[in-house]
Amino acid sequence: MKQLYKINSERLLQRVEELSKIGKTPENGVTRKALTKDDYEAQQLVANWMREAGLEVRVDNLGNLIGRKEGNDSNAPSIMIGSHIDTVPNGGKYDGTIGVLGGIEVAQFIHDEGMQTKYPIEVIAFCDEEGTRFQGGLFGSRGMVGKVTELELLKKDDNGISRYEALKSFGLNPDLIHESVRCKGEIKVFLELHIEQGPYLQSIDKPVGIVTGIAGPAWFSVKIFGESGHAGTVPMNLRRDPIAGAAKIIGFIEEVCSKDSNSQTVGTVGKITAIPGGSNVIPELVEFTLDIRDIDLERRNQTISKIKNEIARICKDRELRYEIVEHLIKDPTMCAPHVVEKMMEIGKSLELDAPKMISGAGHDAMAIGEIADIGVIFVRCLNGISHNPKESAAIMDITKGVSLLQETVLNYVK
Ligand SMILES: [Zn+2]
Repeated sequence: MKQLYKINSERLLQRVEELSKIGKTPENGVTRKALTKDDYEAQQLVANWMREAGLEVRVDNLGNLIGRKEGNDSNAPSIMIGSHIDTVPNGGKYDGTIGVLGGIEVAQFIHDEGMQTKYPIEVIAFCDEEGTRFQGGLFGSRGMVGKVTELELLKKDDNGISRYEALKSFGLNPDLIHESVRCKGEIKVFLELHIEQGPYLQSIDKPVGIVTGIAGPAWFSVKIFGESGHAGTVPMNLRRDPIAGAAKIIGFIEEVCSKDSNSQTVGTVGKITAIPGGSNVIPELVEFTLDIRDIDLERRNQTISKIKNEIARICKDRELRYEIVEHLIKDPTMCAPHVVEKMMEIGKSLELDAPKMISGAGHDAMAIGEIADIGVIFVRCLNGISHNPKESAAIMDITKGVSLLQETVLNYVK
């Protein structure tokens, strides 16, 4: 039988396990926050594996671990593979890491075969994708496209240590982060392999998915002002109750987002606060968060306008006042059609039967997409669970994903 996958699964699995020991929690999860001692130790380990794969290793001033092998053409843009090795508190061992370790496997294959490539190849572990420590994710990848501000360097963690100081204690020079910025044309293609972090692939029984685009998030906070009163004495018809108004609005959010038959619009109210917040008090203020995402920018913006109109209507009816504050609005990021089509073709030849799908969650590829063509591969994860010690992906599925990554790299790197 022809061997479809030229990946050393055993080594890959062993490395996933070995890396997960750094920052291991009692619950069998991993806590490896960016720019900590554990993160440093993890970088050292991964750097050794990069060197074994014939890559020259350095850490840029953003804290990105970069392994590079030159191509025959010294002026050619690089083929970049990357993801992250930092985690959320008590997270899983596959999120991010399989993209980095999978990338190293690809480099190792090229090294072992003694292949001479036209384009340079770079494998990257981006610094602080999760944003847990300093509240600002995709740090290394955003920095690489020049989107990190000086103000961000001053953000402090829970112990009062700024990102600036943390980068310094990592042996880096945060005053020189501009030197790590890449321009358009320096990266030919950026490829990221990641666990799906959702239940779609499992629900259709497929090991691997080919991402066509990453949904654009829009985050708001909504405040509804009413009139506080005693729960026992104010008659229902005389109330201006903001929590009852908020309930109507939240119901509408679910309804309007559910109308997209392709299920690509998603709306979430993740946090709600009532003030003053007593069981026998009609609140005077209710504040809730709103997260709307869609791969289709026009449809997302239409959904947002419908929600805003409904907020206005409900508040008018109920004599409530409202305020909507925008926190983050990002356009969807599309994967390059030529990468998607190439992956579909390779997926067929590898007998993966990999479907096209969208990513609801943001990844480093989203940032790099500002300056380069990107491609993203998803690997099925058990019950869609992620950011949790229960996060799990089968080594056979990871092998299939890395094989698709490998063949895609080989296609572009020649
Ligand atoms: Zn991740």
